[in-house]
Amino acid sequence: MTIQLPDIPARADVLAARPTLWTNPAYRPGAVEDPALPVRAAQVLEAQQNWERFAPLLEICFPELKASGGRIRSELIELQGLSAALGYGGEEFGRQFIKADGDLPVAGSIKARGGVYEVFVFAEQLARKEGLLKQGDDIRRLAEDDARALFSRHTIAVGSTGNLGLSVGVAARALGFKATVHMSSDAKTWKVDRLTRLGVDVVKHQADYTTAVENARLAAEQDPSIYFVDDEQSQHLFFGYSAAALELKEQLRARGVQVDAEHPLFLYLPCGIGGAPGGVTFGAKTVFGDNVHCFFVEPVQSPCALVHMMSGSEELVSVYDVGLTNKTEADGMAVARMSAFVATVMRNMLAGVFTVSDEDLFRWLQLAHSILGLRLEPSATAAFAGPGFIVSHAEGRAFCKEMGLGENLANATHILWTTGGSFVPDDQFAAFLNKAGS
Ligand SMILES: *Cc1c(COP(=O)(O)O)cnc(C)c1O
Repeated sequence: MTIQLPDIPARADVLAARPTLWTNPAYRPGAVEDPALPVRAAQVLEAQQNWERFAPLLEICFPELKASGGRIRSELIELQGLSAALGYGGEEFGRQFIKADGDLPVAGSIKARGGVYEVFVFAEQLARKEGLLKQGDDIRRLAEDDARALFSRHTIAVGSTGNLGLSVGVAARALGFKATVHMSSDAKTWKVDRLTRLGVDVVKHQADYTTAVENARLAAEQDPSIYFVDDEQSQHLFFGYSAAALELKEQLRARGVQVDAEHPLFLYLPCGIGGAPGGVTFGAKTVFGDNVHCFFVEPVQSPCALVHMMSGSEELVSVYDVGLTNKTEADGMAVARMSAFVATVMRNMLAGVFTVSDEDLFRWLQLAHSILGLRLEPSATAAFAGPGFIVSHAEGRAFCKEMGLGENLANATHILWTTGGSFVPDDQFAAFLNKAGS
């Protein structure tokens, strides 16, 4: 397929793989309530209630969740010295926080919110269907021997560039399922090794992410004992992620941060296939309405959400269709084609997409480590470009003016979502730092 992108300012930058900001001409207020959407706002609350129900079981499965009573949460960290280092020290940059999903327990990335959730939802459904969990039974039944015996006869499969495989693999093995992870060629060896140690069957494909997912889906279709976690279509993943917005709301309130028409909120979300940032965006829109503006961020060579949404095409457009390579060190975001489901939901809800170069990712990784002591993987620092684009870039300023936010930027709050990194082994992390220094 050859695709003509519309003749707008961001186009030349996108095609030349230069960092840029595209704002969505179809962005409109109230989009989250659109009855034509395949998802409902009430489902975000349902997901949070499911997470609460699973908490006692999660606490048994993962001892590291003892302190939080089985809740998988991340901190909200004010940027402090990092603001100035990023060039965001001026008053017009408002307040800035990191939402530190790179430190999430169980999986060390934002995938802990999606993958763990879907595996636990499936386990509960299966146990109910088999009569093992009855109305009113304690959810901790699912950690008992007969439940494990049932789960051991089933396989959970997933395609992954790495982190989703880690999250699904860890959750599946914790309940006693068999697990198969289909990895794309760019998956990092340490992620494969970690899964193998947990008893996960890892299949390495000499192909990109989309192909790995297709292979995994095909294998699952031929075997009823395989449950396939489908990153391109799964609503369970999406809603697992979405509940993060309610967590954020609580944390902002605890910090005394106001969100209203005079105090806008900006979210910057690293995007691969779109499930994680899409779920968080949908959740945030249900929680903060038109006072939150969500932006995805993608590598310059893998801007799949940007090219698809910018094209306005009904059919999915891939980064290859516009001559880009999908080559990036940001493995969590090395995705050539976004999820069609997420594209539909985001059409009128996403404020825009910006892109970042790999060199910036490594530079920011080093800064976040030296100033805040954070351990991030390259994908996870992509959001750091957000405030710069919104406050200083011509397209960002035009967006703020059109939204009537110009006067209120000093009152704004920017959330830089850092999506992964705490599980990166020491030698790998040292290599990342080295790369930033060279
Ligand atoms: C998966 C991932 C993303 C993007 O999530 P998608 O659901 O693929 O859009 C971003 N950063 C990291 C570190 C990830 O693992």
